[in-house]
Parts: sequence; C-alpha cells; structure tokens
Amino acid sequence: MGLIAQCIPQGYCHTCTGCCRFAAADSCWVPRLLEEETKEFAGLRVVQDSPAAQFRCEFLDPGANACRVYDRRPFECQLYPFVLCRRGTRTFVCADPACVFVRENKHRPEFQAFARQLLRHLSTPSLLDLIRRNPHLVQEYDGVEAIGEIEL
Ligand code: SF4
Repeated sequence: MGLIAQCIPQGYCHTCTGCCRFAAADSCWVPRLLEEETKEFAGLRVVQDSPAAQFRCEFLDPGANACRVYDRRPFECQLYPFVLCRRGTRTFVCADPACVFVRENKHRPEFQAFARQLLRHLSTPSLLDLIRRNPHLVQEYDGVEAIGEIEL
C-alpha cells in the first residue's frame, strides 16, 4: 500500500507542536495501528517526559520536532489532519480544525479539492476493505468537520 498523499507542505509541521502529543495516554488521538502494522510498530507507545508534560508518541523526536519514522509512518498518521469519525452507525472522513493548516486553508479551493480526492481514494474497494478489517480506526472524535461519508 502506497503512502496516503499529504496536503500539508513539507516542513510546515516542524514549526507546530500540536501533533503527536496527547493529553492522556488513552486519548482517541493516539494513533491506532492497522492489523498489518502491529509487528513493525510494536514499539509505538506514548511516553511522558516529566510528570507535568503532555504524553507524546515514542517516535516523536522532541528536539527535532519530527517523526523518526515519517517515511513509513502508520496509516492513521498518514491520514492526519483527516480522521475517520463515527457518527451513530455512519462513518465520515473529517478534517481536524485543531490543525493550524486546516484552520488556515479549509476554505481554499485547493484544500477542498484535496479533501474530495482523499474521500474518493478512501472510497475505493481496497481502502474500504482495509478500513472494514480495522474498525478500531473509526472513532468518535469531538470537534472535527465532516468532508463526506464513506460506506462501510
Ligand atoms: S508515528 Fe510519527 S507521525 Fe505518528 S504519532 Fe508517532 S511521531 Fe507522530
């Protein structure tokens, strides 16, 4: 499976300290792994550098503010700033407005075109099958904005 295309320009995220850090170890924002990723990323854990610090993914290099496994990062990390969100029995592809890039660009035609293309990509039979086999990726996120529905 190839990487999911990313809408955020390379380098943009290095100035932001939002991603890969979590308020709690069991936060819904901690990446869930695909079944086929569990062996490679068995070490994906959240750690806390001090009792007062946020939790962070163990693969985040806090000094460089970069992912140590970026080129082979898990599917859910590739998808972000989009997530798969459950609303009742339905599943939506949503954008996270907590991401600065989303907030600044969500009304731009280029961003909307990217989001529509991602929705089409996630609606292809192979990706739908992948998501069906990994239902734990679909969660109830608060505050996210729906791009469109996928039919699982
Ligand atoms: S694997 Fe990389 S991109 Fe995913 S949460 Fe960890 S540091 Fe962030």
